[in-house]
Amino acid sequence: MIKQRIEAPKQEANKRIQNFDEVCLGYTKEQAIEEASRCLQCPKPFCVNGCPVNVNIPKFIKALKEGNSDKALNIIQKTNNLPGVCGRVCPQEEQCESKCILKGRGQALNIGKLERYASDHGKKEVPIIEKKDDKKIAIVGSGPSGLTCAADLALMGYKVTLFEALHKCGGVLSYGIPEFRLPKKIVEDEVEFIKSLGVEIKTNQVIGRTIEVGELLEKYDAVFIGSGAGTPYFMSIPGESLNNVYSSNEFLTRINLMKAYRFPEYVTPIKKGNKTVVIGGGNVAMDSARWAKRLGSNVTVVYRRSEEEMPAREEEIANAKEEGIQFVLLTNPTQIVGNDKVEGIECIQMMLSDADKDGRRKPVPIENSEFIIECDQVIVAIGQKPNPLLLKGSKLQHEEEGYLIVNEHLQTSDKRVFAGGDITHGDTVIKAMGDGKKAARGILEWFKQRKIVDFEN
Ligand code: FAD
Ligand code: SF4
Repeated sequence: MIKQRIEAPKQEANKRIQNFDEVCLGYTKEQAIEEASRCLQCPKPFCVNGCPVNVNIPKFIKALKEGNSDKALNIIQKTNNLPGVCGRVCPQEEQCESKCILKGRGQALNIGKLERYASDHGKKEVPIIEKKDDKKIAIVGSGPSGLTCAADLALMGYKVTLFEALHKCGGVLSYGIPEFRLPKKIVEDEVEFIKSLGVEIKTNQVIGRTIEVGELLEKYDAVFIGSGAGTPYFMSIPGESLNNVYSSNEFLTRINLMKAYRFPEYVTPIKKGNKTVVIGGGNVAMDSARWAKRLGSNVTVVYRRSEEEMPAREEEIANAKEEGIQFVLLTNPTQIVGNDKVEGIECIQMMLSDADKDGRRKPVPIENSEFIIECDQVIVAIGQKPNPLLLKGSKLQHEEEGYLIVNEHLQTSDKRVFAGGDITHGDTVIKAMGDGKKAARGILEWFKQRKIVDFEN
């Protein structure tokens, strides 16, 4: 008989909405060993293929089962430079755990929480790096794609310099994902480890303004661009310029990066709503809603499709519900109402059309079904696109909205420039990391043989 999956303990919902500490408390040693002992050690482990960076899952789990978290972490480290981050924010239910053989027999192994345990309790191995040659690489952006590419190239023995626009490293891991999901100490430790591999980090360097990509190419042999997609979309509906309408980017950056939740101890303020409506159904919407809750607001999430289509991680939707956040689904905003400040939001009910040829059901408005939700704050979390500043003075081919066009090796229209992560349509931390790894291999091949197929339009 297959044993029951062990869920990691977490803070009680009524307590955690009154603090900013991490919700998940992580496994005890006994729980980690018990959960690890559920793994069947499959000879053909499908879970590994489900992981975009191909962590040797059965091997690290075997080490945990034997009570050896140092060994477990060292196995993970071989292919994953940010294990503490991935163990916390990866959508494992769609990746490794979705492929786990135990899923078909009941419940998948809790791979994410075991990875978190190994990272929190194991000691990182400091690798011995052999210097390769004098080639230098510039990395733009310190999100998961940039950090991973930088670390892999440094491990290959290259000299790497990373340029970050903000004063702090980590990208979305620092300014977007909340402390209660991903403590900033974890991100800082992972960044410090990457620095210890010899990566030089230059903060407050906006590529496109401080230096242009072309200038980087004069000083470096190759460039990797991992500058993400940090410019918010708005809905283009009346009332979006009223006071107390925030983009999720601004709301989360003020809180996470500038520590506005500790104003006036920190100088950046944040407006606190009594009744907040968050628009969107992804991780960004969940994070905004759960922060607004912790700042003392009643919170409603408005999403135009049904729960089944919500792109947020299942665990975070469940956490949001436990914390008392209301969900108004199959609903789309039509205007934000108020004089000078937000007083409410007018919405229309939606229904889902029949599936189109890609199997996607489109939300369609139901005529004359408008209604108003009273609120004094609105947070728009409907997606982001790349910031065009980066491309200033560059001839790199890109889509209209600024996403860079790359070939299968993540090489852009300039053969010495590679790109990955959200700037090439990524949408998860692990996808960005997978791109960082792929680009590092692409750069290596380019240096070695210069035989990567030419960029095709
Ligand atoms: P980013 O993380 O966006 O980093 C880009 C970096 O480049 C930033 O530091 C930026 O300041 C810098 N930069 C930008 N322009 C320039 C420039 N011109 N010069 C120099 N530097 C520049 N994914 C998950 O897998 N799980 C989750 O739970 C999850 N939650 C999320 C919650 C929020 C609030 C958000 C916004 C996203 C979330 N995501 C989640 C998505 C995930 O964080 C991103 O897919 C991932 O961070 C993309 O990595 P990246 O390296 O491409 O870019
Ligand atoms: Fe273990 Fe599941 Fe991977 Fe099999 S598929 S090795 S049971 S984690």
